[in-house]
Amino acid sequence: MNGITVAAVSTPRGKGGVALVRVSGENAFEIADRVFAPSSGKRITEYKPNTVVHGVFSGPDGAFDDGMAVLYASPRSFTGEDTAELCCHGGVLVTQKLLSACFAAGAVPAGRGEFTRRAFINGKLSLSEAEAVGGLIDAVSEKHLGVSLMQLGGSLAQKIGDIYSRLALLASSVYAYIDYPDEDMTDVSVPEMEEKLKTILAELEELRKTRKYGKAISEGVKAAIIGRPNTGKSSLLNLLAGEERAIVTELEGTTRDVVTEKITAGGVVLDLSDTAGIRRSADRIEMLGVARSLEQINDAELLILVLESRVCEADLEIIDAVKKAGKADLTIAVLNKSDLAMCEKPGIFKYEIELSALTGDGREELINAIETLCGAGECGDDGAIIVSARQSAALDKAVACVNNALAALKSFTQDMAGMDIENALAALGEIDGRAVTEEIVDSIFSHFCVGK
Ligand code: GDP
Repeated sequence: MNGITVAAVSTPRGKGGVALVRVSGENAFEIADRVFAPSSGKRITEYKPNTVVHGVFSGPDGAFDDGMAVLYASPRSFTGEDTAELCCHGGVLVTQKLLSACFAAGAVPAGRGEFTRRAFINGKLSLSEAEAVGGLIDAVSEKHLGVSLMQLGGSLAQKIGDIYSRLALLASSVYAYIDYPDEDMTDVSVPEMEEKLKTILAELEELRKTRKYGKAISEGVKAAIIGRPNTGKSSLLNLLAGEERAIVTELEGTTRDVVTEKITAGGVVLDLSDTAGIRRSADRIEMLGVARSLEQINDAELLILVLESRVCEADLEIIDAVKKAGKADLTIAVLNKSDLAMCEKPGIFKYEIELSALTGDGREELINAIETLCGAGECGDDGAIIVSARQSAALDKAVACVNNALAALKSFTQDMAGMDIENALAALGEIDGRAVTEEIVDSIFSHFCVGK
């Protein structure tokens, strides 16, 4: 257990019904006992852990609020340490007083993410689970929230863990053979090892494909709605945004303000920059022309091209620019105003969707196309999705190492492959932050009968 006891307000700043101060570490119970007096007249430490107790909070200047307190005894707490959760009324001053009272009683301010970090250090959470806590807090889209929740339950950790133990077994059989050549050990033949590595590689590659969607639901996708004026770009934006309009951020641009709007389409977060007339004002209407659309094409990871009635010269110019930028595969053509007349299909894009921004007809189809283009099809329902850039980099490394191991098997000896497997284990371990070499050693002794 960490010797230092930390405290912090765990609810957002500002006024609310209740606020929660969390105290974690060796002296958490003692600190709770000093700042909190149960109404029953007993001491909080006389209650069994996990019991919600009503009482009065006081600091150096005396009592200031009433509320509830719960003690969680190590290791059965979020951090794995003795923890007190103190719930007071959600006033800014009251909360500050409670926190100060905890400091006066011996706690020190918790650093950023300190509780989750302690949970990781104490083995309560794997790294991907710890990241999932961050995901839960940061989630803008429902999908990100759902995936974070599943990862907190260990969905990704389980998948990685399964691959990890099979790789560790391969490494251990190589090393056991090198270290104990005289022992009668079940050795894995080269073709067997090759086959097992290929299976693992395929599984890692599958997992790698989930990164695209993982990024789309968490960080978002740079998107632009393009098209000539009056095709219905603003109307489409409003249709997509609907009630799901999430966050509007104003970024100080160097020359002028650029408005970025985040909206969710299905599970995907779209980062839309001001091209579709997000803000319509007289002087900006001029900018909604073809030239403005062309500018956006290079920057975007997903394009929604809005067309109406007949494909005209101006449309062709934009389509040409999309093709030249190599973005045709990332473009969804929306044939808008389907309530008036059917628009001619250009027959160029994989998705050419008839839609009415006015009535909302075709919205579902558009959202499905956005989801598919963003890689939803590569992910199962189990939440084992690579969400963070850190996980992604570690996975890339693991894939490269397994590839090296396969190459080494072909041209060198098994023990050379063993080194690559060990590197792959280290990379996989980075996703979850587990120790590597110890586990290989453990694996040798648990799977092989070394020594008599
Ligand atoms: P933008 O210049 O591309 O942003 O186009 P707007 O969204 O401002 O739309 C131009 C005009 O077309 C407006 O009068 C809209 O009300 C109209 N409009 C947009 N979408 C539709 C649609 O699906 N059906 C019909 N009938 N009118 C639409």
